[in-house]
Amino acid sequence: MELGIAGKQALVCAASKGLGKGCAMALAKEGAMVTILARQRDVLDQTAEEIRNQTGAQVNVVVADITTEEGRDIALAACPAPDILINNAGGPPPGDFRDWRQQHWFEAINGNMYSPIDMIRRTLDGMLERRFGRIVNITSAAVKQPVNALGLSNGARSGLTGFVAGISRDTARHNVTINNLLPGLFDTERGRGAAALIGGGSGLSADEYIETLPAGRLGMIDEFGATCAFLCSQHAAYITGQNILVDGGNYRGTF
Ligand code: NAP
Repeated sequence: MELGIAGKQALVCAASKGLGKGCAMALAKEGAMVTILARQRDVLDQTAEEIRNQTGAQVNVVVADITTEEGRDIALAACPAPDILINNAGGPPPGDFRDWRQQHWFEAINGNMYSPIDMIRRTLDGMLERRFGRIVNITSAAVKQPVNALGLSNGARSGLTGFVAGISRDTARHNVTINNLLPGLFDTERGRGAAALIGGGSGLSADEYIETLPAGRLGMIDEFGATCAFLCSQHAAYITGQNILVDGGNYRGTF
C-alpha cells in the first residue's frame, strides 16, 4: 500500500534505538524526510546511517534531551514545521510508590506527560494551517493494563492520554490526527528489562515470562514502526483520539 507521505517532514523523538528507531525506519521507507533525536550522538549517527543505507531517505540528526525546554527548542530549530511528529522519551524507573516523592513524580510527569504536550502545543497550529498533520504518542500498554512497579509510568502516561482524548477531536476536520500507540513488550533494552521485572513478580525469568505471552515472543521494532507509519499515512485521516495496543494480544479484555 502506498502511504502517501513521501516528502513529508517527520520529527521522531527518542529515535536512536528501540521503538522510536522502528518508527523512523518505517517512515523513511515511505519516503518521508526524517529528523531523529536522542541524547547520545554516537548511537544516533549510527542509526541515521543505517536508515539512510536501508531506505535512501534524507535523515537529519539532532542531539537533544526532549524532556527539557532547551532540547525542544533545538529539535524544532532543526525541524521547524513537522508534518509528522512522533512523541517519545525514555520511561520512568520502576519502584515502590512508597518511595516516590514529589521530585520522582515531577520527573515522570515532565518526561512522559508535559514534554509531549509541549511538543503538540508548539507544532499543532502549523499542521492545522497546512491541512495535514499526524501526531503519534508512544505511550504504553500499562495505560490500559497497569503494572504496579511501573506506577510512575501508569500515572504520567494516563495524564497524557486524558489530554489527547480531548484535543484530538478538535483537529480532525483539518486533516490533523493525534493518536497514542501502546506498546506491549518489545525486543528493546526497555522491553527486556520490563519482561524481567514483570516475570520476576511471578518467580519467572525474562525468557520464561516471554514464553507465556500469547505470541510466545517479544514484539519487533519494525512491527511497531509499520503500525506507526500507517497511522501517519494519508489513509488514516479518519482515525484520531485512539489508543492502539500493539502487544501481541497480551491485553486480555474483550474490547
Ligand atoms: P529504548 O530501546 O531504551 O530506547 C530509548 C530511546 O530513547 C533511545 O534512542 C534513547 O537515546 C532515547 N531517549 C531516552 N530518553 C531521551 C530523552 N530524554 N531525550 C531524547 N531521547 C531520549 O526504549 P524503548 O523500548 O524504545 O521505549 C521507548 C518508550 O516506550 C519508553 O518510554 C518506554 O518506557 C516505552 N515502552 C516501551 C516498551 C517496550 O517493550 N519496549 C513497552 C511499554 C512502553 P539516548 O539515551 O541517547 O537519549
